[in-house]
Amino acid sequence: MQANIQSLLEQAQQMCETRGARFTITRKKVLELMLKHGGAISAYDLLDKLKETDTAAKPPTVYRALDFLLEQHFIHRVESQNAFIACNDFSDTHQLQLFICEKCQEVQEIHSPQIQQSLNDQARLNDFQIKTQTVEARGLCHHCRVD
Ligand SMILES: [Zn+2]
Ligand SMILES: [Zn+2]
Repeated sequence: MQANIQSLLEQAQQMCETRGARFTITRKKVLELMLKHGGAISAYDLLDKLKETDTAAKPPTVYRALDFLLEQHFIHRVESQNAFIACNDFSDTHQLQLFICEKCQEVQEIHSPQIQQSLNDQARLNDFQIKTQTVEARGLCHHCRVD
């Protein structure tokens, strides 16, 4: 797990270099905290964690870092929880749907091209231009049903 986080951080670093984006220490730290956390996390919980190593951190510090990470597609917004998750595959700008467990709050990221295709088809039929879209399903994960 730890090795995986390290390799994801290195991957992010390389992608930023290729894109000419500045992967500052704070931005990297925020992504690292999110990868270590695993599930969805709010900006304020992130701020608390960040303060453990950076006592000067303020809400704008976290929000700016989150904006950057969203722009780079390293993280996703979980609209219904007002929280964020680290992406499990930021090698690409993929479409996204989320399964959110109501019991353990785990968020699973899925990438269904069929769901995307249906939305695009409906948008065309209704002469609607989609800018952003959120597909989130709530329920119980495998783990919480077995327990
Ligand atoms: Zn993703
Ligand atoms: Zn669960």
